[in-house]
Amino acid sequence: SRDFQPESSTVTLDNGLTIGGTGFVVAAGPCAVESAELLSATADSVRAAGAEVLRGGAYKPRTSPYSFQGLGPAGADLLDQERKRSGLPVVTEVVDPGDVELLADRADMLQVGTRNMQNFALLSEVGRSGKPVLLKRGFAATIEEWLFAAEYVLSTGNTQVVLCERGIRSYDPSTRFTLDVSAVPVVKALSHLPVIIDPSHSSGRRDLVKPLALAAAAVGADGLLVDVHPESAAALCDGDQALSPEEFTDLMASLRRVLAAV
Ligand code: PEP
Repeated sequence: SRDFQPESSTVTLDNGLTIGGTGFVVAAGPCAVESAELLSATADSVRAAGAEVLRGGAYKPRTSPYSFQGLGPAGADLLDQERKRSGLPVVTEVVDPGDVELLADRADMLQVGTRNMQNFALLSEVGRSGKPVLLKRGFAATIEEWLFAAEYVLSTGNTQVVLCERGIRSYDPSTRFTLDVSAVPVVKALSHLPVIIDPSHSSGRRDLVKPLALAAAAVGADGLLVDVHPESAAALCDGDQALSPEEFTDLMASLRRVLAAV
């Protein structure tokens, strides 16, 4: 909390990229790792548009057991190859404490997804890995519960934690989840940790990604996590929310204008 540490903290990835502080960092890429070609094409396009981190899931925590579950270790190897090829640091989700070591060797940042925010064994294991952690808010979690989840990581001695607001469950089915934009200033008042927003998983709708991303910049978030897919109609996971590379480039141009104005 800010009582413990009044100054805002920053998280530094192995390549020196800092999340938090004065910058605004955008992580973008496919929801799921599907193939080496797709990953490279997406990495090249998001980097050209200004993204500084590549996202992509090798292990996908899907609601239905019959949906694509990710490529697993083969997907993690593709992420490792791609970060070496492109130079972009990689953030990827870990769903099982037993996979932390494998992913820590192949990625720059470990993501704990909304469904695992209170998987305390997983939180402790990612903490002990020493890797930077991206901790998503549970979709039914209060801000206090989210901050206590972060505390599980911090209490291992790993201070490299970034929070990610990704929408909470509400009564309105117009969007997949309801993005809690107010979480950013609320968390920033309570906690020194950087906070980013995921407009893709919160809305589940491509047409809402840009307005929500711009809101994130305006409300003082430290960055974004955005789904981008070159062929979203054929995506194996969450294609409806993925921006095309062209849409992502347009978003980044608008973001720069908002960031210059706030
Ligand atoms: C993701 O970012 O790939 C993801 C599954 O997000 P969430 O945990 O927020 O649903």
